[in-house]
Amino acid sequence: MKIGFIGLGIMGKPMVMNLLKAGHEILAFDIIKENVDIVVKAGAKAAESPAQVAKDCPLVITMLPNSPHVKTVVMGKNGVLEGAKPGLKLIDMSSIAPLASQEIAKACKEKGVRMLDAPVSGGEPKAMDGTLSIMCGGDQDLFNEVKPVLEIMGNSVVLCGTNGAGNTTKLANQIIVAGNIAVLAEALTLAKKAGVDPQTVFEAIKGGLAGSTVMNAKAPMMIASNFKPGFKIDLHIKDLNNAIDTAHGVGSPVPITVMVQEMFENLHFEGKGQHDHSGLAEYYAKISGTKIGD
Ligand code: NAD
Repeated sequence: MKIGFIGLGIMGKPMVMNLLKAGHEILAFDIIKENVDIVVKAGAKAAESPAQVAKDCPLVITMLPNSPHVKTVVMGKNGVLEGAKPGLKLIDMSSIAPLASQEIAKACKEKGVRMLDAPVSGGEPKAMDGTLSIMCGGDQDLFNEVKPVLEIMGNSVVLCGTNGAGNTTKLANQIIVAGNIAVLAEALTLAKKAGVDPQTVFEAIKGGLAGSTVMNAKAPMMIASNFKPGFKIDLHIKDLNNAIDTAHGVGSPVPITVMVQEMFENLHFEGKGQHDHSGLAEYYAKISGTKIGD
């Protein structure tokens, strides 16, 4: 199938590679030319604008940073909806605010375009392996039609509800990940300060109730003082802002999320926004005077 792909960053590029490997034709667009060149070298064709992508493809996928970027690409000048013919399918795989997803889906519907929100969890390694977890919001029929394409990029593809439900699920995921990283940093800092080796603590507890995917991925980074992203603090700030706005909108209290958001903001203002989110360990080092790593 001819698939349009807009947004060729850390995640978009490997997702395009997997679609190409599966035999799909890709028409690609990004505002950064070097990113387009990389996928063109792998066999994709370059487009001039999101409107051209939509004009030439029956299915368009977007993988962009946040709500304003998706609104510009879909609803803006030279955007997807300017080029779209009725019947076009749009899958937005960016992590954005659920209300923005609903607004974009409504604008799409007015033009005869059907949209699914389908944010992902798993990061660059799983984007490369094609083993992302994909959380969808939209109509069952559209979900059934595009599921085979999503299964090229992910090994868990779940319809969570109507438009916006995919992004609500992603916000739940990001709240859980942020809270886990923060308490992991807090606990390993305590161990170090009390004179017990954090590596030994990790080995002793990882198979018990406290063990988690977050612990397995992030404890070694904290112990090595390696904060190379991975998933950047600035992107997690974006997700927690969307989570807090959404929670306030529906009247659901999120006191722990707000606390972790303040820690991330503090790191951002210290110039660490591009560090991996395991860099929450650096916040604890500052307030405790003790580093988990050497
Ligand atoms: P990124 O910043 O690496 O890539 C975003 C791409 O979008 C860039 O190439 C940028 O040039 C392009 N872009 C921005 N505005 C554009 C426009 N108007 N038109 C065309 N292209 C435009 O981000 P990423 O890490 O690939 O993340 C993409 C989304 O996936 C985000 O919502 C992020 O939260 C989510 N996500 C990321 C990870 C991760 O580990 N990086 C994991 C899960 C989910």
